[in-house]
Amino acid sequence: MFYAKFTDDRTFSTPITKVVCVGRNYAEHAKELNNPVPDEPILFIKPESSLADMHRPLRVPAEDCHYETELAVLIGEELQDASLAEVERAIAGYGLALDLTRRQLQSQLKAKSHPWEIAKAFDGACPLSQFVAPSEVGESAHISFSLLINGALKQQGMTEDMLMPVIPLIQYMSRIFTLRAGDVVLTGTPKGVGQLSVGDHLQLQLANCLNIETQVVAR
Ligand code: ZN
Repeated sequence: MFYAKFTDDRTFSTPITKVVCVGRNYAEHAKELNNPVPDEPILFIKPESSLADMHRPLRVPAEDCHYETELAVLIGEELQDASLAEVERAIAGYGLALDLTRRQLQSQLKAKSHPWEIAKAFDGACPLSQFVAPSEVGESAHISFSLLINGALKQQGMTEDMLMPVIPLIQYMSRIFTLRAGDVVLTGTPKGVGQLSVGDHLQLQLANCLNIETQVVAR
């Protein structure tokens, strides 16, 4: 079982039961993969067995593994068919996640109209950072984050650029999936996704609150 942790060493009381994710929530990222911008959020789930601690070395599939850096939201109270105000009150923290994706495999699956689980939900496919209290990060509409690989800036996200902002997105999710206390929501990746290689040094930053350094090792 995997429990969300905070930067002040607190551990959230209940384990993560699932990670609810959205695809193509940034127009520029949809474009870079030649995907149309969707009319409605494209949701998928990563199981709790896909979680890994981002603060430890990342064990990824040797070939065909893309990074997607995403703002992660920790849900503090159960949400089912929630109002916007209920969503806002239920957010227990913000952190970062990597939505690791076997991109070639995903493309093959999409071409056959098959589900893409095995390309996105494998063991270790969701490295997760520690969380910071919402009061420290500020307004959900104005959060920035970035990824550097081997010192080069690869991704820079601003929640202003999301097609569906954080609060309405979680409200939408809560109409389909009950979000349990301790669950995590991934809010989509900005442009700049690419291949990870063994030996890569990653530096991830969330606003002025989190700075994580980690390394890719062979699985
Ligand atoms: Zn993603």
